[in-house]
Amino acid sequence: MSVYTEPSLATAVRVEKLTRVYGSVTALDAVDAGFGRGTFTAVMGPSGSGKSTLLQTAAGLDRPSSGRAFLGDTDLSRLSETRLTELRRRRIGFVFQAFNLVGALTVEENIVLPLRLSGARPDRAWLTTVVERVGLGDRLHHRPAQLSGGQQQRVAIARALATRPEVIFCDEPTGALDSRTAADVLALLRAVVDEHGQTVVMVTHDPIAASYADRVLILADGRIVGDLPQPGAVRIAEHLASLDRRTAR
Ligand code: ADP
Ligand code: MG
Repeated sequence: MSVYTEPSLATAVRVEKLTRVYGSVTALDAVDAGFGRGTFTAVMGPSGSGKSTLLQTAAGLDRPSSGRAFLGDTDLSRLSETRLTELRRRRIGFVFQAFNLVGALTVEENIVLPLRLSGARPDRAWLTTVVERVGLGDRLHHRPAQLSGGQQQRVAIARALATRPEVIFCDEPTGALDSRTAADVLALLRAVVDEHGQTVVMVTHDPIAASYADRVLILADGRIVGDLPQPGAVRIAEHLASLDRRTAR
């Protein structure tokens, strides 16, 4: 199944025949997909279906074996390592299941770290907005270890937002959180899209988490096998179950 989107200003991220091979494993098999600006997409599928590989190659964290990934008009495959690192720091945000905060730094220092690394001038007004939006105003001088899992993930989201990136990739951001805390984090990602027009692409196993998205892409064996616009949690769960039945046969 192909969900190719024509290049356009309305597309934040686009991948063309994106393929990643590890030894004898084809983790991603000629995937075509586009992600509209200001949209929230959930990427689902069985373990090992290529979800993380899609995020990492689309985000320039990993190079594809063939095919191309575009951020806006920029073809990542044409960039040197240095330029790619620069682009990642300035134009892309990441949120991982394990938070990946720096334990020795305060909340505030963690949030501005990508800005420091990219050498960009901090936009103070935006940082204030971000800190307020994630509800961390009274925790700025705490260290990550003094925070709950949900708070730590909110710091990671604030950090991902600090450079005002065009797109935020999240790989199972709620995988380590209880359902109440997860709901908080998902509402925050939803608000980032609705209030600030950013683009979010989120891998998740949880149909309820996926129901916060505008669209659900389903991967199996490195290919897109489903593209559901605004499905509810029930339809998502049914779709995944039918996939299980097909692969079990
Ligand atoms: P998912 O995130 O959907 O669980 P991944 O993208 O992590 O799937 O992995 C897809 C396939 O690629 C799996 O078979 C996995 O074992 C393989 N794979 C992923 N990363 C590597 C790697 N660095 N080295 C070798 N195989 C890998
Ligand atoms: Mg994964």
